[in-house]
Amino acid sequence: MSEKSIPECPFSALAPSYLNRDDEFFMKLAYNNALKAWKMGEVPVGAVVEFEGGLIAQAHNMVESSKDPTAHAEILAITQAANKLGDWRLPGATLYVTKEPCPMCAGACIMSRLKRVVFGAPDPKMGFLGGAAKIHEIPSLNHRLEVSSPVLADECIALLKAFFSLKRSISSDKLS
Ligand SMILES: [Zn+2]
Repeated sequence: MSEKSIPECPFSALAPSYLNRDDEFFMKLAYNNALKAWKMGEVPVGAVVEFEGGLIAQAHNMVESSKDPTAHAEILAITQAANKLGDWRLPGATLYVTKEPCPMCAGACIMSRLKRVVFGAPDPKMGFLGGAAKIHEIPSLNHRLEVSSPVLADECIALLKAFFSLKRSISSDKLS
């Protein structure tokens, strides 16, 4: 992807308050990672993993730059968290991601035994934690994954919408 096809990012990083390490705090960190994705021309999705109150992983979508369809923010963050803890099981950990996980990432949340997932923008088309399907509610699953209601949804939706509409306007400029 050439530099020219990357729309300028009109959003600024959010400033998380370190005094209050709640869901919003960690989602702001995920959001700031999504901005980094945008600047690389990637669909702006960011993810972080919290464990025992601390940040153990942060990543953003890298599909274009690594030419890897599995390089979603969630997968990269889960792998980082597992490396950090030295265990593929992450039972006490919470994943924060700016967009509802796709089927692949929702599957990875279950396979890694995450305790909880918090997302920003719901995804009625491809989201598998409530949007298009609820993979975590399949009765035969042994692992219970807690899914929290959206946090900073407006900000995360605005980010994705702006990215796609600016990209569209750039490609139509090229055609004219
Ligand atoms: Zn995904």
